[in-house]
Amino acid sequence: MKYISTRGNAPAKTFTEILLGGLAPDGGLYLPESYPQVTRDELDGWRELSYADLAYEVLSKFATDIPADDLKAILRKTYTPEVYGNARSDSDTTQIAPLRVLEPGLCLLELSNGPTLAFKDMAMQLLGNLFEYALAKQHAELNILGATSGDTGSAAEYAMRGKRGIRVFMLSPDGKMSAFQRAQMYSLDDPNIHNIAVRGVFDDAQDLVKAVSNDLDFKARHRIGTVNSINWARVSAQIVYYFKAYLAATATSAQEVAFAVPSGNFGNICAGHIARMMGLPIGQLILATNENDVLDEFFRTGVYRPRGTKETYHTSSPSMDISKASNFERFMFDLVGRDGAKLRDFWSRVDAGGSIDIKGSAYWQALPEFRFASGSSTHADRLRTIRDTWTKYGVMIDTHTADGLKVGLEQRREDLPLICLETALPAKFEEAIREALDRAPERPPALEGIENLPQRVEVMDCNLGALKQYIATHTAG
Ligand SMILES: *Cc1c(COP(=O)(O)O)cnc(C)c1O
Repeated sequence: MKYISTRGNAPAKTFTEILLGGLAPDGGLYLPESYPQVTRDELDGWRELSYADLAYEVLSKFATDIPADDLKAILRKTYTPEVYGNARSDSDTTQIAPLRVLEPGLCLLELSNGPTLAFKDMAMQLLGNLFEYALAKQHAELNILGATSGDTGSAAEYAMRGKRGIRVFMLSPDGKMSAFQRAQMYSLDDPNIHNIAVRGVFDDAQDLVKAVSNDLDFKARHRIGTVNSINWARVSAQIVYYFKAYLAATATSAQEVAFAVPSGNFGNICAGHIARMMGLPIGQLILATNENDVLDEFFRTGVYRPRGTKETYHTSSPSMDISKASNFERFMFDLVGRDGAKLRDFWSRVDAGGSIDIKGSAYWQALPEFRFASGSSTHADRLRTIRDTWTKYGVMIDTHTADGLKVGLEQRREDLPLICLETALPAKFEEAIREALDRAPERPPALEGIENLPQRVEVMDCNLGALKQYIATHTAG
């Protein structure tokens, strides 16, 4: 299996060749040159598999240059109840990503039972083990540099902590995260994890990361890499749980289902799109946004118009507060019939601050084939959905999952079972839960009192020289 760039101007590569990288050299994103197909019989043969072994069946079609035994061992080490077991007392702790039935035909897929209580662990934990494996083979080291406003940074740190050959330098805006989020990251005492609090806002931290990445000489000398949401291995790891959910929700592979996906950077739902392209019987992919509705707008109107930072709202589902969706280009590539020149044209407009309009074109005609539906949600919708779900089913959901469930219920086709992806646990968003339910969410025992642990963080001015100096000092030797 080879991977090609959405912009059509980069050499094809293998899975391990793109594993540690980000963008393709032509500025595009990598995708398989064609999607492997899964037949109904093959699918039915997977019904009894554990999550790890199902992941092997799916991912061995993509990671064709990793020896089968190695891949199987990595997946078994990643997807175990030791990592995913104890986040929630009312959960089926014998399973990875259990399906919780709210009522017949309406389910939640529990993806947030990992160490940082968000679905990003599902992909990031695998990335940590794949990186360690690949680096050991190459006798190489990698220094991961990133900026976070909360979720991604902590998922990356928990996935990379203690890993041989890997260091993490994670920038966060000083004083801008919740006490719980700070404690989650800054209380890690692994020597390979470096937390840097930048005196500024998230965008300042992000700009510093971009500036370091643009210094190609420094980047090469210090073996700097990233783990952002465009990484192909992260997307591919997410394809697996669509299969898992489908098999848990159906009795035969003649049935179709609908998925509702709380969306930001379009990574999660892109994996659903790919699962459908592989032949998984998905009748509807329902994309949910919060007030930051750039993606909902596209699916309703055919116009993709990335917002400026001033037009990006801070909401109570903060992990979906995005101005542009970094994985959306992958879907567009398929929508335009994999025409790299067309995407170069589209993204030259986007990169210049403009927009894309496909209304009235053949692409707009083709869109229904891809089975998307979409909608958006507000703070009041989230509170109401959290309250309704608690009253009706006795199940507490977080604000992001509430966005997904609200839009899913609105947009679903009545003839399809609806599976809503649970992208975080309520414990992460205590304030909103108190507002909705007037009570505190349950916190996993391992995270009780985490705010009182000693913290390790380097506070730094927003200064490129100082950051480079810090990295150079801590990667020497
Ligand atoms: C990252 C995140 C999302 C958005 O996922 P994308 O893959 O960026 O679309 C939704 N909910 C939560 C809790 C997240 O952390």
